[in-house]
Amino acid sequence: MKIADNLEMLELPMKVMRMDRIVYPTLMWDDDNVILVDAGIPSNLEMIQKQMEAAGVPFKRLTKIIATQQDIDHVAGIKGILDENPEVRVLAHEVDKPYIQGEKKVKRLNSKFMDRIKDLPEEVRLEIVDMFENSSIKVNSTLSDGEVLPFCGGITVIHTPGHTPGHICLYHQKSKTLIAGDAMNILHGELVGPNEDPMSEDGVNANDAINSLEKLMNYDIVNIITYHGGLFNDNPNERIKEVIRDRKLYSYMK
Ligand SMILES: [Zn+2]
Repeated sequence: MKIADNLEMLELPMKVMRMDRIVYPTLMWDDDNVILVDAGIPSNLEMIQKQMEAAGVPFKRLTKIIATQQDIDHVAGIKGILDENPEVRVLAHEVDKPYIQGEKKVKRLNSKFMDRIKDLPEEVRLEIVDMFENSSIKVNSTLSDGEVLPFCGGITVIHTPGHTPGHICLYHQKSKTLIAGDAMNILHGELVGPNEDPMSEDGVNANDAINSLEKLMNYDIVNIITYHGGLFNDNPNERIKEVIRDRKLYSYMK
């Protein structure tokens, strides 16, 4: 879906843990750069290629993938893309880099998560664990808070720890679009808070995820793209203020 000039929201069906969901990576481009923000899971590759073609941006033009975080449904698809197009550079926040590279055990694979998937059939469970264990990829550059990437008219990196310690949002200056990753979600058409199930580490928790949203108040936002909920463009700044005030967390299970 076209959100603004040279900015497209992809829509990828994703079956994870037997739940049919849709995720929404973002594609941005200029004359020299084509950037994909988050990459789905391995089975999404063909659809990413098709949707890029449909947006008028051939897959072979892809130059960069920015991962908003280490979580598997955002990064597991990167490997397949690199196999097809080894020139693509991968960027992520420095804190989540060692997890994406497989040097540290991914936070999500904790006992709480294993307990949640324990009743799934053996092959589904194995598929999930396999994805976690075999999706490590090299991060070529790290990103830090406040950095402005000189691509696509300027993209500001906003470090928003909480969902993961190295979670980032991106602000596309030209179109005033916030690419929110999992910093927020959409429930029944309404923008809601971050996930109640953070990959906590070093005291980083869901409360921190809400506190991180304060940083977003510094930006004039016209569109928000959330990875699991898609587009929200009904007075985003006002709504973010309410989300911060209410301090409610989002649950997948509702
Ligand atoms: Zn996610």
